[in-house]
Amino acid sequence: MRNMTRNTQKGHKAKKSLGQNFLVDPNIARWMVENAGLNEDDVVLEVGPGKGMLTKEILASQCRFLHVIEIDKTLAPFLEPIVKTSKHRMSVIWGDVLTINLKELSPPPTKVLANIPYNITTPLIWQILEHLVPLGTRELLLMLQLELAQRLCAKPKTKDRSPIGITIEKMGKAQIVKKVTPNVFWPTPKVESAIVHIIIDKDLKLASDHSWRRLLRVAFARRRKTLANNLACVYDFFKDKDKTSKLLDYLKLPTTVRAEELTVDDWHHLYDFISKID
Ligand code: SAM
Repeated sequence: MRNMTRNTQKGHKAKKSLGQNFLVDPNIARWMVENAGLNEDDVVLEVGPGKGMLTKEILASQCRFLHVIEIDKTLAPFLEPIVKTSKHRMSVIWGDVLTINLKELSPPPTKVLANIPYNITTPLIWQILEHLVPLGTRELLLMLQLELAQRLCAKPKTKDRSPIGITIEKMGKAQIVKKVTPNVFWPTPKVESAIVHIIIDKDLKLASDHSWRRLLRVAFARRRKTLANNLACVYDFFKDKDKTSKLLDYLKLPTTVRAEELTVDDWHHLYDFISKID
């Protein structure tokens, strides 16, 4: 009962399974919108508007149009009044962002702003890179769990290096722009959060390249193994130890190298080679 009181606000019970930690500090929402530099050409996608704290700030900017995608229909009493006052600058799609066809959003988003739950962050960013970037999305400003934010921005030779972080680095850049304490959310989460700014300006079709995605998935499949051992599980070329060590030597990489140690240029060269043999 105590727990329910703590998690219930204006008749709505926050759902832990949907990662519902709502922003209660308007200054953070305002900060995000100011730092997104929205102008009259921008079409924004907000994933998981919740009770609309960030939504209202986005609408107060100059942006041309706002799409919001929310899975929890019980939040309608919070979002519908915002739609009514939006002067046709906003549309709400009720559903799971991971199954909605993002390519059908019209007009296509130029920027994505969101405070998103931990469990959908990685697949959501892949969806955005794959389906929205080729249509014109160039910036993402995302509030994430700090640990995940660090993974997206991880440098080579760190344990946080990941396929998605490497892909973002090859397509542009990601940077933690603000750390956020738990007390700006309700219910208060146990972990710290961070706002990550992602800019995409090159290799716009990379995330839909299946050879690239497969290479990274296979290379990181077992993190404690060497890169060569992981690749040998899938690519016949790497089953031949002589050929493998000649290739690694040519790429100026030691035979014992692990996936997390490669720079984005190393990945680029390895991918060039794999594309020829795959
Ligand atoms: N943006 C609001 C804020 O800052 O107060 C809410 C943020 S809350 C961390 C995450 C929101 O994402 C919730 O409203 C939740 O219902 C929604 N959500 C969770 N999973 C979703 C999914 N798969 N598709 C769309 N929305 C989702």
